[in-house]
Formats: sequence, C-alpha cells, structure tokens
Amino acid sequence: MLRQHCSSDFVDIKILGSAAGGGFPQWNCACRNCRELRAGTLNASARTQCQVAVSGSHGEWFLLNASPDLRMQIVGAPELDSRGHLRDSEGPGERGGKA
Ligand SMILES: [Zn+2]
Repeated sequence: MLRQHCSSDFVDIKILGSAAGGGFPQWNCACRNCRELRAGTLNASARTQCQVAVSGSHGEWFLLNASPDLRMQIVGAPELDSRGHLRDSEGPGERGGKA
C-alpha cells in the first residue's frame, strides 16, 4: 500500500490489480509470458486486472476501475472489509413487495 501526502492529510492508495483486461496470464493468450507463467518456468506472479482503492482519513475506501476480479481482490485486502455493513442490493420484488 502506498501512502501519499496531500496538503495536510494522507491518502492511502492500495493497488488491487495491475494487469490488463483478463489478468495475467490472460486466459486466451498464447504469448511467451503467459505460456511460461502457466508452465511455471517464468519468474513472475499472476496478476488480477487493474484496480485501485483510495482512502482518506476515515477508513472509507473508493474503488477505481472496478473489474470482474473485484471479489477476489477484496478477499485479499482485509482493510477493505465492509465491517458487516453490506450494501443493500435487493430489488423491491426480492423483499416480497411488488416490482
Ligand atoms: Zn499473454
């Protein structure tokens, strides 16, 4: 995690992923790097798609460039845990009411 000084406060920046779309190795890519990473002969690490989390001083995180790898990235970053305050994503029809 990076900590950048901005005027009088600090901003925490967490890089959750750094690969192009599809991650690395990319599922449908046969380039030398992807092939060698799959084979275990490349000294590199698999990476998820590019995504960054930014936080001010109150522990609230903002996601930039959220990707399909979001769930995996959040599981790997406990500081992004919602602390039991899950977002309500139910629609009206899912609560027994009329849609
Ligand atoms: Zn590739």
